[in-house]
Amino acid sequence: MLPSARLAFRHTLRRSTASSSAGGVHDRSKTIGFIGLGAMGKEMANNLLTKTMAANSDAAVTFVVHDTFEQSITRFLTANTSLHPKRNIIAASSPAGIAKLSGTIVTMLPSSPQVEQVYTQENGILEGLESYASSNDPQASTLCIDCTTLDPAVAVETAAKIKNANSHGVFDMIDAPVSGGVVGANAGTLSFMVGSDSTESFQRAEPYLSLMGSRSIHCGKNGNGLIAKIANNLLLGISMLGVTEAMLLGTAHGLPPSVLAGIINTSTGKCWSSEVNNPCPGALEGTKYSPPADRDYEGGFAARLMAKDLKLAMNTAKLEGVPTPLGQLTASIYEALGGNDEYMNKDFAVAFKALQAAVGREEFRQGREKV
Ligand code: NAD
Repeated sequence: MLPSARLAFRHTLRRSTASSSAGGVHDRSKTIGFIGLGAMGKEMANNLLTKTMAANSDAAVTFVVHDTFEQSITRFLTANTSLHPKRNIIAASSPAGIAKLSGTIVTMLPSSPQVEQVYTQENGILEGLESYASSNDPQASTLCIDCTTLDPAVAVETAAKIKNANSHGVFDMIDAPVSGGVVGANAGTLSFMVGSDSTESFQRAEPYLSLMGSRSIHCGKNGNGLIAKIANNLLLGISMLGVTEAMLLGTAHGLPPSVLAGIINTSTGKCWSSEVNNPCPGALEGTKYSPPADRDYEGGFAARLMAKDLKLAMNTAKLEGVPTPLGQLTASIYEALGGNDEYMNKDFAVAFKALQAAVGREEFRQGREKV
């Protein structure tokens, strides 16, 4: 490694209560950066790190993490440096620091504003790539894999800036949003929907994605991975509300939840929201599923995230003039749930609890009498 590169390497590191391990040799092509150690990201990073280290005994293999939430970094380093005491597992103080070191960067952030901040604003990835490529290594190559669910237009715009970062370096950014939730992230069984202009970049990303998931689908050009993800979540939000209404209707008239769910799940109304994540408590008793509804909607996919994805779906539909009457209604219901302190962090099946609570309300009763 060039002396100047070693200097950049050292400056990028941040002291942590957990000691980083091996130290020593740095090889950009063998360094993986990970930004965003939240509910999904920490599970994905754990799998990526553990499986990479298990498959490769080379001491130069390095894992660098960053998050704005200090405790997440400390927790990650503490757990992983004790599991892999002789390996390079370190933290960087900014996304620019990650970019100066890493040949591959994975990001898992809340949505568009955070992706713009991490990639293109001060101390962001773009700044790190540009300064590294011009001062240290004109041939630097980095692939950024963004797994966030965000506005496809913002993703395409950000990727264009990364691709043009420096005429000497070889930089690319692809969108790779996921489905499978926290359970799939933990088990390493996520599905990645990849938008990448370049087939080569998709192929380069695949070995990394395969350490975090069981399926990667190349959906076409940049932004297409997000279009696929957003279309799926539009349908998921609508189907959840459909199942919610059907379960409310049946149980309000005295049908036991498990009887009604058993009928729906062997009939034409069956879908993931009825069979696996049924929103009515007790509906899946006696089956192999244990939905968040049976734990007061703890865990699962937060209502605030569904609200965000439906808003993205509405904006994306508007761009092409796609009519979405059900989507708009669903988005407005989740906007209310996502802004409600009691429901926002619960699984999105909590719509059932919210509508059930509305049964007792005056305006609902009056509406019923009119009918
Ligand atoms: P989260 O809020 O738990 O995690 C986001 C992480 O990003 C946090 O640790 C936060 O501190 C960090 N962060 C925010 N801004 C940052 C910045 N500027 N720089 C560095 N770090 C920053 O969210 P999550 O549940 O992990 O979801 C991440 C993405 O995955 C979202 O786009 C979500 O829609 C999508 N997703 C979530 C699920 C799920 O079940 N949770 C399922 C599929 C897809």
